[in-house]
Amino acid sequence: MAAGEAVVVGVRVRPFNDRENNLNAVVCIDMEGPTTRIRNIDTGDEKTCPFTFDESFWSHDGFEDDGTGYLRPLPNSKYADQRYVFDTFGQRVLDNAWNGFHCCLFAYGQTGAGKSYSMVGYGNNKGIVPISCEEIFRRIGQEKDPQKRYEVTVSMIEIYNEAIQDLLIDVELRPKKGLEVRESKALGIYIDGVIKRPVESYEAIETTIEEATNHRTVGSTLMNATSSRAHTVQIIEFKAVKDGSATVSMINLVDLAGSEKAGQTGATGDRLKEGSMINKSLSALGNVIEKLADRGSEKKKNVLIPYRDSKLTRLLQNALGGSSKTIMICALSPASSNHEETLSTLRYADRAKKIKNIAVPNENPQERLMRELREENEKFKKIFEAMQGGTMPSADEIKEMGLAQQEIAAMEGALAELNKSWEDKVAESREQQEAARMRRSSVNGVAALKKNLQPMMVNLNEDKTLVGRVRFSFPPGRTLIGGLGDESDSDSESGSESDSDSSTGSQPEGEKSPEEMFEDEDESPHIELGEGVARRHAVVFHDNDQNLCTIYAASEEGLKQTFVNGKSLRQLLKSQGLEEVICRQKDKPEAAGIELSHADTLVFGRHFFVFVDHMVCAPEILIASGQVDYAQAKREWQMEQLSGVHESLIVATRGGVLGVSHVMELAEKDEIIESQKAEIAELKQQMVTMKAELDRYKKMAGGRLAAGANMLGELYADELLESQMDEISKDIQKTFKDAIDQMNDVQAIFSKKALREGHLTWRSVT
Ligand code: ADP
Ligand code: MG
Repeated sequence: MAAGEAVVVGVRVRPFNDRENNLNAVVCIDMEGPTTRIRNIDTGDEKTCPFTFDESFWSHDGFEDDGTGYLRPLPNSKYADQRYVFDTFGQRVLDNAWNGFHCCLFAYGQTGAGKSYSMVGYGNNKGIVPISCEEIFRRIGQEKDPQKRYEVTVSMIEIYNEAIQDLLIDVELRPKKGLEVRESKALGIYIDGVIKRPVESYEAIETTIEEATNHRTVGSTLMNATSSRAHTVQIIEFKAVKDGSATVSMINLVDLAGSEKAGQTGATGDRLKEGSMINKSLSALGNVIEKLADRGSEKKKNVLIPYRDSKLTRLLQNALGGSSKTIMICALSPASSNHEETLSTLRYADRAKKIKNIAVPNENPQERLMRELREENEKFKKIFEAMQGGTMPSADEIKEMGLAQQEIAAMEGALAELNKSWEDKVAESREQQEAARMRRSSVNGVAALKKNLQPMMVNLNEDKTLVGRVRFSFPPGRTLIGGLGDESDSDSESGSESDSDSSTGSQPEGEKSPEEMFEDEDESPHIELGEGVARRHAVVFHDNDQNLCTIYAASEEGLKQTFVNGKSLRQLLKSQGLEEVICRQKDKPEAAGIELSHADTLVFGRHFFVFVDHMVCAPEILIASGQVDYAQAKREWQMEQLSGVHESLIVATRGGVLGVSHVMELAEKDEIIESQKAEIAELKQQMVTMKAELDRYKKMAGGRLAAGANMLGELYADELLESQMDEISKDIQKTFKDAIDQMNDVQAIFSKKALREGHLTWRSVT
């Protein structure tokens, strides 16, 4: 048996960021050759523990800007620049692909540690992905054999919340639940229906990546997701064809979600388990690596590897434990304040290097497919013939037949794909892209160019590369901003403050309050945002003559959940002595609003934007100026959330006042907020069930009462039946008692809920 080949693991430490510099952060990482040491400075524990990897990349200091923005090493420094990292790791990936192996490169580490910097890079400091792409076409260009052809396709996907999304499809055209990972004996593991874009030059890859990044931003802005929680996978399929036979290698380049999510969960226990669902894939990856490392280093050869636990591990099954050459680059923060996270990343990396894979070069896919197809077909035929001969197939055989059928369908599809000429594929893909472009330009309207010169808002994001990619302009007149609305506040709860009373809510049809009539107006928002934004949220009125944009609340929710520079509209109006009016009119609003100025931050629900007045400067310039940043806007907004809730918190903790710093810390933990929201939702659901139960009891008790009264009437004269009456009245009493007990239970839940909600208002608004 061939000896396994270990996963190649490298760690890389980045420079301090501005925040760390301002806080005079202390370095806790040391590197010497392939060895990395970490010190726990905070606890005064100077003990260091060494970890040895294939590479330890020192990128913390010892560098300078070469004048183009590219960071190069100073003379005699050990600084590892982007080129060096590519030469040691990226080059290996390409060599493997050239030799017909599948390969995979992962970037692991906490958010902000430098994963994307290594993978994709920023500006002139291109990362492994773009350099590899350049290199692929450089090598193709150098091919001397005229008989040899190369075909390269690119797919880009994202895994967020256990759904696989194709980043090469417009957000609104994607299937809601995402794509499925399937496995076929002949095809191995593949994503059903993923777009494979044929690319014939580096520029084509670059455009494809750019397109995917745009889709990712629109998606995450609308879905309220942060990119740090998504895994991005770029799949390059590389095929070398000569004399009708081909080798195919898949190159998977994986920028993983921030590892701190998984870590935090483990540390904080049950409460956050729910939050951890958000990154099931990452914890599953940890388990898989753990098991594979066991298999690689000990006698436990037969451990079951839980690939199926998540979409990510399933997709990368081959890369992790199969016939793939795998490289992992773990990004480290140098600051002692991140000691714990960094140590856990190092341990992770240490486990990963114990994994051993056996990579075999891939054979001609066409021949293998044909062979497998024939085999499957034979099996299928045998069962079928037996059936015709009158033998009923067993349950197992039926199952096998079903599987065979699936397998055959998948293989037929793949064969058809293989038989298409490369030229056809390229032409087909061009057509698709052109259609998508047409669709987009017709959606954007003819005035797309003019639109750019209107005042607008552009998105902010924690990921720098995504800032400014979503733009909404405000043409002269009125623009309504809305979202999905809160589905739970329709029907059952709307308008009834005293929702414990089930007898309200039966208003005669057709009689509606002016408010309701207004809400009925079927006006879809001009700017549609996602979750957490009311259907009618805010209105921006652009007065062209005065060159002035004013923002108004379009609903109660909008009043509370629209923020300008961190202050809610409600608060802003109050502080200016203006009435808290909600803008109802369709034409020019007369309600009180807030005038917007260039570079104001705007928050709707949790969607962050910055207002850009084109007369002052273009959005690119504003963003590049560093005048606005997401972290700052988010802090402002968080402070605002906190100041409004301090009081309710004090009430809720019943005397035990929490320190402000403690409160701040809580506010930072998105996961807590998420899990508590879910808890409230669950509680709500419980209450609905209890309410229904209670209604049933009330009805039952009423029915019994009526029956009892009837009987009493009939039997009134009959003294002999007095004892029976006693029985009945006892029965009735018991029913009442039960009903009252039940009612008390419900009451207790109500007050518990009220207490919780009072306590949580400020969290659940986020
Ligand atoms: P992640 O993808 O892990 O969340 P990023 O790659 O976005 O983190 O890095 C966070 C910040 O640190 C970015 O501003 C990036 O430019 C900077 N950075 C990361 N690694 C390096 C490096 N090796 N050299 C210089 N700057 C780096
Ligand atoms: Mg990143």
